[in-house]
Formats: sequence, C-alpha cells, structure tokens
Amino acid sequence: MEHPVHKVVIIGAGHAGGTLATTLRQYKFEGEVTLLGDEGRPPYQRPPLSKAWLMGEVEEKDLFLKPHAYYTDNRIDLHVDESVTQIDRHARLVTTASGRKFSYDVLVFATGARARTTEVLDCQSEGVVTLRDMKDASTLRERAKQAKNVVIVGGGYIGLEAAASISKLGASVSIVERDARLLSRAASQAIADALQTRHESAGVRFFFGTTVIAVERDGLRVRAVRLENGQTLDCDLLLVGMGVIPNDALAHVAGIACDGGILVNTESASSDPRVFAIGDVAVHCASRFGATRRVESISNAVDQAKQVAAQIVGRPVPRLDVPWFWSDQYELKVQMAGLPNADSTALTRTSTQADGTTVLYMSGDQIVGVETINRPRDFMVARTAISRGQRLNLDIVREPDAPLASALLQS
Ligand code: FAD
Ligand code: NAP
Repeated sequence: MEHPVHKVVIIGAGHAGGTLATTLRQYKFEGEVTLLGDEGRPPYQRPPLSKAWLMGEVEEKDLFLKPHAYYTDNRIDLHVDESVTQIDRHARLVTTASGRKFSYDVLVFATGARARTTEVLDCQSEGVVTLRDMKDASTLRERAKQAKNVVIVGGGYIGLEAAASISKLGASVSIVERDARLLSRAASQAIADALQTRHESAGVRFFFGTTVIAVERDGLRVRAVRLENGQTLDCDLLLVGMGVIPNDALAHVAGIACDGGILVNTESASSDPRVFAIGDVAVHCASRFGATRRVESISNAVDQAKQVAAQIVGRPVPRLDVPWFWSDQYELKVQMAGLPNADSTALTRTSTQADGTTVLYMSGDQIVGVETINRPRDFMVARTAISRGQRLNLDIVREPDAPLASALLQS
C-alpha cells in the first residue's frame, strides 16, 4: 500500500470480517486489528443455519470460525456488541452506537446483508421469521419443532434448504415462489426440475407465479396466508426467504461509491483507496467473471478477505478465484461454479451409468459455468477448467458416459 498501515478496523464480525482478521495474523501483520460486530457473538458459519443447525444436528459452539480465546491470544481486538453508526473519512475515525471511537489507517466494510421482507409479511410479528443470523435461526428452530403447516415465501436457497430441513422435522411445507420456476436467476431448468421433483417426493408443495398478499391471524397467532392467485394456505409458521439487501448505508453516507452495495475494483478497494469492502456487501465491477454484481457466497467472502490481507502486508494480491457455491438438500449435494451470462448455452449431461445431473455452461467451446447434483468429480474438473479458461471438445462432452476430464483440450 502507498501509506504505512498500523491500524486496521473491520466493520462486521461475520464470515468475511472474521476471515480477514485471522488471515492478517497468519500473514504476520504486527499492527492493531479491531473487529467490530453487532451480533453479540464471535464470527460463525451461517451455512449450517438452514441445514444441520435447523435439524438440531449441531450446537452453537460447533459453528464458530475460531474459539473465543483465539482472538485475545492473537491480539485481535474483537468487540461483539459495537454497532458502527458513523464514519469520518477525513479524521479516519469510526464511531459506534455506544459512543466509542476507533481510528484507522485502513477501514474494511464486511457488513454483509440483511433479509429482504415486506410490510405485509411483518417479520416483527409472532409466527413470521426470516433466516439470516443465529438469532433468527434459533427462533425458527424452536417454532419449526412445533409447527404443523409451514409456508415459505421464496424458492431460493433459503427456501429450499429450509424446506428440506423442516420437512424432515415432520411439518407440512409449502413454498410460494413468484417466478414460474425455482431458482430462475440462480440455476438452470434441469437443476431446478431435479430439486423440485425431490422436494415433491418429500411432500413439499409448490405455488408458482404468485406471492403472499395477506397474513391471517387469530389474535397474535398466524393462522393462514392468502395468495395473490386467490388461494388460502393454512399456516402456523411463515418463513420469508425473499433474498437480501446489502448493508451499505454507512458507506453511502460517508461518500463512498455505492450502487446496490459498495463498488469495488478487482482488488476489493472502494472509491477511497484506504477503504475496502468484502463479502456480500461488495459489488464487483467488471471482474473477470462477467458483469457488475455482488457474489453472495462463502468462497467470495474468504477470497476477498485474503486479497485485502495480502495488500495490507505487502504480499502479491491473489486474483479472485471463480466463485463457487454448494447447497445440501436431503441426500442431494448441489455444487455450482462460475457466473454464466445470458450469452452462454446450458448443456445438460445425462449418463446411463451414474446418478446425478451435470449442467455445463458454454461460451463457444469455452466452459464458463457448471452446476452439478451429486457429481463431485464433474464439479471439480469443471471448476478447475473454468478457472483456467480451458476449452472442451464438445463431441466428447455430448457422449453421455465419457468422463468429463477426457473432454478437456490443452490450452
Ligand atoms: P455476514 O456473514 O452477513 O456478516 C456481516 C456481519 O456484519 C454481520 O454479523 C452483521 O450483523 C455485521 N454488521 C452489519 N452492519 C454492522 C455495523 N454497522 N456495525 C457492526 N457490525 C455490523 N453461502 C455459501 O457459499 N454456501 C452455503 O451453503 C450458504 N448457506 C447459507 C445459509 C444461510 C442460512 C445463510 C443466511 C447464508 C448462507 N450462505 C451460504 C451465504 C453466506 O453465509 C454469506 O455469503 C456470507 O456469510 C457472507 O459473509 P459476510 O461476512 O459478507 O456477511
Ligand atoms: P435468493 O437466493 O435471492 O432467493 C430469493 C427467492 O425469493 C427468489 O427465487 C425470488 O424470486 C423469490 N422472491 C422474491 N420476492 C418474492 C415474493 N414477493 N414472493 C415470492 N417469491 C419471492 O435469496 P434467499 O434464498 O432468501 O437467500 C438469502 C441469502 O442467503 C442469499 O445471499 C443466498 O445466497 C444465501 N444462501 C445461500 C445458500 C447456499 O449458497 N447454499 C443457502 C442459503 C442461503 P425472483 O428470482 O423472482 O426475485
């Protein structure tokens, strides 16, 4: 960096913020590291909240990125109840709700995102929940154990993973999705169809092309929801999984360039070179993986944290790896990599010998994306090929039982 860095302040003690603090110490950064969180607990993993946690298979202590003692042992000044309310970029000072002030040489936004909801759904009321953090997840888990009829608004990853977990707990589950199919922005038709079929075999009901327009109550208790298409569904627990809104208001007020999140360059720097943004709140401008967008995944949070740590200690800055995601639903392991665009063509590979599904996204003969269900080998081959910009022999790809690796062309 152009200026000496003695003090790093990280806003947000989530996956990205926690990874940055620990990576700085792994990279032998000797300066001060302050990590400011507002959830009352050290950084933890969110993915199990809709999976193993919801089914009661793991405890809170299993989810922490590092044991509590790690932070003191490694001179990370972790505050778990300090919500940052103001930033003064000229004085290089952040202020929290309790009135404390922290000065910085480098400031990092790792503020993540919050669940989207609507007034009609009123997530403050009893029986209506979102699923973003441990507090939400604890409420959902307690209510799901007693619920008979759970309605989920949104057929995205929250909706599908929660539906798989809750139906295993014994409740009847309905998903209301305003689009005509599942995962319309996130996955191909083939993957969406395979997931829908598996959910239906577990008894999950789907209502497409509509949404919830009213919540009916008996006193405080939710009794039913009314859909835009005129149907009424019995409901004693309503889960809202309608996507997220990035927590970029602080940055915006501080005059940092934002557009649906904090705009960052290919090395995660914002419009102020002393300020970085990592994880769900960051909007990648013209990254090598396509259009300007946020990437809501653990792999992105970790990769960006490593980029920023490298810059602070003066190491070569790694370029961002191809983004990848996973989702566990029943016995299905969904894995996806790359960010296919409207110009790429989806090619579904069926096999006479193996279960599972593989969808490749091709731009000509170059592979730009992959989605698999229970095909970990195909996923690894394709993910590496995307990262290397490799081309494939399409004739071999179309042979149903040829190993995907045999289709790779030397670049
Ligand atoms: P977060 O983890 O949201 O952390 C941001 C933190 O900043 C929060 O603690 C927030 O409270 C805090 N904060 C915000 N504003 C302030 C402020 N002003 N002051 C102080 N603190 C503040 N991704 C996958 O790749 N695979 C999965 O299987 C997967 N499953 C998921 C399941 C669930 C239920 C959820 C909710 C998400 C899942 N994700 C998954 C997404 C993944 O968890 C996120 O991409 C990741 O957590 C992003 O990390 P982050 O640090 O950017 O944001
Ligand atoms: P999401 O993946 O954006 O999906 C939201 C879904 O809700 C979309 O299908 C959306 O449809 C639909 N929707 C939006 N408004 C609606 C309405 N009014 N009525 C009915 N449906 C509506 O978001 P999410 O599932 O809520 O997940 C939240 C975050 O957690 C995301 O960052 C996600 O990546 C993360 N997460 C990730 C994983 C994983 O990677 N395995 C697992 C769980 C959560 P449209 O497409 O039409 O908008």
